[in-house]
Amino acid sequence: MINPFKPEIAVITEVFKETSDTTTYTFRFKDEETRETWSFEPGQFNMITVFGIGEAPISISSAPSDTGFVQHTVRHVGNVTNALAKKKPGDVVGIRGAYGTGWPFHQLYGRNVLIVAGGIGLAPLRPVIREVMRQRDRFKEVEVLYGARTPGDMLFVREFPEWSEYVKLRLTVDTVPPGVKWDHKVGVVTTLFSEMSSQPSNTVVLTCGPEIMMKFVVRGLLHMGFSPDRIYVSMERRMHCGVGKCGRCQIGPRFTCKDGPVFAYEELAALPEEVLGGVGR
Ligand SMILES: Cc1cc2nc3c(=O)[nH]c(=O)nc-3n(C[C@H](O)[C@H](O)[C@H](O)COP(=O)(O)OP(=O)(O)OC[C@H]3O[C@@H](n4cnc5c(N)ncnc54)[C@H](O)[C@@H]3O)c2cc1C
Repeated sequence: MINPFKPEIAVITEVFKETSDTTTYTFRFKDEETRETWSFEPGQFNMITVFGIGEAPISISSAPSDTGFVQHTVRHVGNVTNALAKKKPGDVVGIRGAYGTGWPFHQLYGRNVLIVAGGIGLAPLRPVIREVMRQRDRFKEVEVLYGARTPGDMLFVREFPEWSEYVKLRLTVDTVPPGVKWDHKVGVVTTLFSEMSSQPSNTVVLTCGPEIMMKFVVRGLLHMGFSPDRIYVSMERRMHCGVGKCGRCQIGPRFTCKDGPVFAYEELAALPEEVLGGVGR
């Protein structure tokens, strides 16, 4: 029997510091067969093990069509992620996955797509953006609204010029420190609603960020007439096993690790537990 808790060994091939507290790691599975057969959907996550320390769920930030490697973008906040911060190319970690539900990627074909992300929440949406860029003709209008605390906290900035050739990218920050040049909006991510071009008709919304942000995003979009059955949210609840056994990440009867992290908004709104502040009830 295959042990679902046994991680695959992965070698770090590249480390890129995105911001003062967040790093993108490129990994290559040591085992050749795993390298060739391993696959995932945009929006899924892996459990990453730092040996001797522990493991943490981290979204996959590369795209399925990025073959031969997998990337994760990690904010260093606690035991595992701070241990990862000390790793360098050539070091190994354990990876098990991919787990959870992905974004409804194939439902996006032929539709407008609105992506709304806050902070590290852009990481699980980067695979969607990368796939959209590679299959651009299959989608209608694609708009990305992204907010971070300050300009220095924005992830993937080096990729923004290329992204902008394929999608409408609109940026905002909570605050601009004195002396920092910033040509975009200032305010929470919903501030961008006033200038976005996305319309409710035929648009699928994908959102990920702090729950408080997603609450106001969903509330605002429902108010503007976006359809609740075409809004998808990624819920990053604390979790442990990653395979629906331990119950740590339960929301009512649902497991975030197995039934999520991506949920149709309507599914969450129907749960007895108040999620996202009970928006839509
Ligand atoms: C599906 C999913 C996808 C994710 N994707 C990403 C990603 O792409 N990138 C990323 O950086 N993070 C991601 N996360 C978040 C990441 O898993 C957490 O930050 C994780 O806790 C980090 O592990 P750690 O051991 O470094 O931190 P921990 O030591 O677990 O600490 C993390 C933070 O939680 C606090 N904390 C510790 N214990 C508790 C507790 N019992 N109750 C409340 N707070 C506590 C700590 O003070 C610290 O601020 C994701 C989470 C999920 C569920």
